[in-house]
Amino acid sequence: MEVTVLGSRGGYPLPGEPCSGYLVEEGTTRVWVDAGAGTLDALLRRMDPWSLDAVWISHLHPDHWTDLPIALHRMAVTADLADRPAPVVFGPPGWDEAIGVALQAYPEARMPYRAVHLTDGASFDVGDLHLTGHAVEHGCPAFGLRVQGAGGVLAYSADTRPCDAVGYLAAGADLFLCEATLSPGTSNPISTNAEEAGQLASAAGVDRLLLTHLLEGVDPDRSLDAAVRSHDGPVELARPRDTHVV
Ligand SMILES: [Zn+2]
Repeated sequence: MEVTVLGSRGGYPLPGEPCSGYLVEEGTTRVWVDAGAGTLDALLRRMDPWSLDAVWISHLHPDHWTDLPIALHRMAVTADLADRPAPVVFGPPGWDEAIGVALQAYPEARMPYRAVHLTDGASFDVGDLHLTGHAVEHGCPAFGLRVQGAGGVLAYSADTRPCDAVGYLAAGADLFLCEATLSPGTSNPISTNAEEAGQLASAAGVDRLLLTHLLEGVDPDRSLDAAVRSHDGPVELARPRDTHVV
């Protein structure tokens, strides 16, 4: 399984730094995990969206989904080029209604997706991958993701405060993509800092930890140091265009 970082910036994009988005590939199976601002461009540099099997929208904060409507519109317009079924789009309950206003600009276009509304613990086979969603605690319906591939497990925290669900979704993962929104030593009710990310990773028996979703102004070196101190295994920052093999 390969995981490519399309974007990793929390909150809003910066020049050359899209918001949250990841491409997970196993053989010919491809899943776009979160579609934050700027990630469609990064995706297009690698593949046509019609090659996607699924999209996973973790929650409806705009830094995680706003490139989805334009991706679907692009697919609607290019549907005659498609030689495979439309992708499944997983998201929180009601996600398609919530973003519908962005899909209604071209009401004549038949939007090419099959909507699935996530529930805690629901599992899905998508091509060669097995996906399980876990409801995390972010002040809104939000779902972290556990991906079982042929060679190992990828876990993605989505956005969340430290909570038991993160332990479940990350248990024994080979690679844990964990949000580290906040500066070490700071907290809020819905987010995690890098020190806490390291603690979560160690408690879950994770091998490699990838820190993502840092806000502007959060010092990446300090965050990396804090996570290295609190996690026994390797720690890296999720950087756009990097590919990690699981
Ligand atoms: Zn969020």
